[in-house]
Amino acid sequence: MNDLAERDRAVIWHPFTQMQTAPLPIPIVRGSGSVLYGADGREYLDMVSSWWVNIHGHAHPHIAQRVSEQLHTLEHVIFAGFTHQPAVELAERLLAILPANQSKVFYSDNGSTAVEVALKMAFQYWHNLGKPRKKIVAFENAYHGDTFGAMAVSGRSAFTAPFTPFLFDVVYLPVPIPGQEEIVLQQAEALFSEEVAAFIAEPLVQGAGGMVMYQPDVLDTLFRLARDKGALIIADEVMTGFGRTGKLFASDYLAEKPDMMCLSKGLTGGTMALGVTSCAESIYNAFLSDDKHKTLFHGHSFTANPLACTAALASMDVLLLSETQANIERITASHAAFANKLAAYPTVENIRQHGTLLAFDIKAGEQTSYFNNIRDTAYNFLLDRGILMRPLGNVLYMMPPYCTTDEQLAYTHEQIQAFLATL
Ligand SMILES: *Cc1c(COP(=O)(O)O)cnc(C)c1O
Repeated sequence: MNDLAERDRAVIWHPFTQMQTAPLPIPIVRGSGSVLYGADGREYLDMVSSWWVNIHGHAHPHIAQRVSEQLHTLEHVIFAGFTHQPAVELAERLLAILPANQSKVFYSDNGSTAVEVALKMAFQYWHNLGKPRKKIVAFENAYHGDTFGAMAVSGRSAFTAPFTPFLFDVVYLPVPIPGQEEIVLQQAEALFSEEVAAFIAEPLVQGAGGMVMYQPDVLDTLFRLARDKGALIIADEVMTGFGRTGKLFASDYLAEKPDMMCLSKGLTGGTMALGVTSCAESIYNAFLSDDKHKTLFHGHSFTANPLACTAALASMDVLLLSETQANIERITASHAAFANKLAAYPTVENIRQHGTLLAFDIKAGEQTSYFNNIRDTAYNFLLDRGILMRPLGNVLYMMPPYCTTDEQLAYTHEQIQAFLATL
């Protein structure tokens, strides 16, 4: 068993991992529902939905069945000049549940590429109209992915530091967390101008930035201010999409609908890598021309891979079941009850929740960065007790698959409380 971990160490470089100091990785042999099974016989409750992708639990039989059938029918086909049933059906069904102004779907490979595509659409939209705009407005502390364009629109941090000279300039707005709304709106009024090509935001929750949450009304006002100057609105729903915040999309809480939306993570239920950038008709129309230069010159080898599209269709089947919707409500209620308990702990602050996502900060004195060792202490304490959570610095959060049972939630609550008792 450790054999596999050591073979891994000999040949593999892991994501977001300091390979010199990281412990050997834990070999996982199978998954079922919210449980991951280790090669050594240990079980882990996957309270982070395996980096936020796995919304229906592991090895879901319906998704497995559909992908397996598709695998024997058509595994892949070039997507320029050709099309296929899963891609068309997925676009139709996505547009049926996305905000009504979304009218076209562009496929790519993951969340970062979905953001890259949205940015390229935005810049080229203005280019094609013959009125180039160069500025992007983003939130401080945002996370939009790890490729260069996505990094550029993310907040500047230790993660982006080595690349800063190579990232295009972005103008930042502070996040309008409760209490800061007025200040942010004032800054926004000064900041949005007719030079702004687009405003990109993670609606309601900044994920990797520390599960920072804010309310829909202030985002609506910001979107309106941006729109008054003609700026395009990009909603990065890579993490918030597909039920995470309680509604199908965080944008469903908003009156101002985005011009472009980025989807990935939960899209295939965590089965395959797939990204989607959807857009309003007006964006699409700006690329229609007899002039070939107005084409959106972007694509990936695996664009609209039929297996990935099929996984997404099967995941959507499961998501729209009344049973799943009831589970989302059940987890939302469970989180709210646990939040009340957490409020009694003097070492806990900033308890916050949107739907099935619950987060809180551990009071950690001065040091509250990602590199704070409270993170490792909490991670190891919970892992030793069979719970997979990955605190973001001193921010603990629960983002379970929707099938997580009440017993599994209760066990997690007990262990979090046991951890808090050690502080
Ligand atoms: C994870 C994430 C991304 C990047 O997605 P990848 O599939 O990891 O490239 C982009 N935006 C948000 C909001 C994310 O949470």
